[in-house]
Amino acid sequence: MSTNPPLRLVVVGGVAAGASAAARARRLCETAAIALFERGPDVSFANCGLPYFIGGEIKQRDALAVQTPLTLKTLLALDVRTSTEVTAIDRAGKHVQVRNLSSGTVESLPYDKLILAPGAVPLRPALPGIDDARIFTLRSLVDMDRIKAAATNARRVTVVGAGFIGLEMAEQLQRLGKTVTLVELTDQVLPPLDRPMTLLLEDELRRHRIDLVLGDSVAAFEPGDALTCRLASGRAIAADLVILSIGVRPDTALARAAGLDLGPRGHIRVNGFMQTSDPDIYAAGDAIETEDFITSDPVSVPLGGPANRQGRLAADHIFRPTEAKPYPGSLGTAIVRAFDVAAGLTGWTEKRLRAAGRPYLTVTVNDSHHAGYFPGAKPILLKILWAPDTGRILGAQVTGLAGVDKRLDVLATAITGGLTIDDLAQLELSYAPPFGAAKDIVNLAGFTACNTRDGLVTPVDALPDDLSVQVLDVRPPPLVAAHPIPRAGTINIPLGQLRARLGELDRARPVITVCALGKTAYFAARILAQNGFRVSALTGGIRAHFDPRSPAKLPTP
Ligand SMILES: Cc1cc2nc3c(=O)[nH]c(=O)nc-3n(C[C@H](O)[C@H](O)[C@H](O)COP(=O)(O)OP(=O)(O)OC[C@H]3O[C@@H](n4cnc5c(N)ncnc54)[C@H](O)[C@@H]3O)c2cc1C
Repeated sequence: MSTNPPLRLVVVGGVAAGASAAARARRLCETAAIALFERGPDVSFANCGLPYFIGGEIKQRDALAVQTPLTLKTLLALDVRTSTEVTAIDRAGKHVQVRNLSSGTVESLPYDKLILAPGAVPLRPALPGIDDARIFTLRSLVDMDRIKAAATNARRVTVVGAGFIGLEMAEQLQRLGKTVTLVELTDQVLPPLDRPMTLLLEDELRRHRIDLVLGDSVAAFEPGDALTCRLASGRAIAADLVILSIGVRPDTALARAAGLDLGPRGHIRVNGFMQTSDPDIYAAGDAIETEDFITSDPVSVPLGGPANRQGRLAADHIFRPTEAKPYPGSLGTAIVRAFDVAAGLTGWTEKRLRAAGRPYLTVTVNDSHHAGYFPGAKPILLKILWAPDTGRILGAQVTGLAGVDKRLDVLATAITGGLTIDDLAQLELSYAPPFGAAKDIVNLAGFTACNTRDGLVTPVDALPDDLSVQVLDVRPPPLVAAHPIPRAGTINIPLGQLRARLGELDRARPVITVCALGKTAYFAARILAQNGFRVSALTGGIRAHFDPRSPAKLPTP
């Protein structure tokens, strides 16, 4: 039996990263003295479930409490103190100062190792009227209870910010029968994605009567019987309840005061083992800056998965330093549902790659989430980005009505494994008609990417204004009539007639082939290329660019 004194571990923050760290620490060491301090009244709750309790989809509030102080004490023998804030760190003396927020008592406690998991706080910009009691942010069970109570008598709700949480809140409040306006600064919902990948989501929100205000922002809140949200455009929106979901900032005042190294936006800097600039102090979760998985650039990814794994790794490095494997970096894999549509991303998007000046190639493919002939096949749209020199996958986005999570996770795994477009083309994925297709959309993305690389097709992702370019729509005429392409001068020759009607096209001018989903346009492009035309094909078809619900064929009467 060891005669060493027990290691004293103090954990600051008791939700995702903090609770994970403390639980792992106990599983690795029965003798350590582990104290967990949480400023709020709850520990280890499921932030990610908060919108769904507000909307009533999760019925039991208790279901959100993954653990309670009592279960953490009983199962893990942790010294859990809620409503207790760590207010200062004395690094030289290895003590933390803690204040009990109920009694006001302050004490100083020693530590051998300290893990900071203070998370992030929602942004609340200093706009006129921002302190109105009808304006809420959502981060904790306490926030959730307040919003749920306020929603009871609210008829009109404005959600500010159409990111992940904003979309979830808009969906859930509409579910409660509220009249919902969703205001977003950029010209698209879900700003982290590339815009074409969000059109189906936009359409879905509008179909559910959500008033979507894009490219505008709240400039002021004006009090009155109703709270008026005055937008930068001048538009006024009356609301009984406002949810602000415009992002978060790291809660790192404690780390800053302790002199730990911070990144440019205030995140705590850590190494691959979650050690801060003080090797006895670790940090994990939304408060930290870590590495991007692909480029190793500094990045902050405020998501539940990374927070849990980072907390676990910090404990690993404290208790089994030689076995712990360094954090590989974050991919930023995320997904959201708005009514029947899901959308998500992993790795880099086109707009990020372009802004960073990094070389990339991309294709977008459209298909059904399982065999098209099997009842219930739903549309799914998938975009991949890859490095031109190596073919390595750099990022992916998926949106659709079913099967989005599965493809996103396959692609996140592919990026993690360093797979290339050739690997995607050859991935052997599970297939039976109710589940997938013999050529899954992930394979299809690989095929299309390889065809692009090999020069078999030149994809374009927009139709030019230049009318000297011939746009050739190869869909059947009834489909063209029902879902026309919004561009003057478009020629319609269905694929089956193309070989016989080549004379209708001007060989001296470039051609862009277009169809509903992108596949038939590729077939047409191959015919034209082999007949001497300069041709490219609209990637993803019109569904990806103009008309997210345009069918591949009209229903038979
Ligand atoms: C509504 C909502 C929905 C979300 N949905 C998803 C999702 O679907 N998928 C996903 O991946 N992520 C989601 N997230 C993000 C995810 O919840 C966070 O990434 C995760 O909770 C971060 O964990 P954390 O431990 O770093 O921080 P937090 O969960 O914020 O916990 C930090 C805790 O530290 C406490 N604290 C701070 N300073 C001190 C101090 N000095 N002393 C004592 N205690 C302190 C705070 O009170 C807080 O409770 C969602 C978040 C919200 C709010």
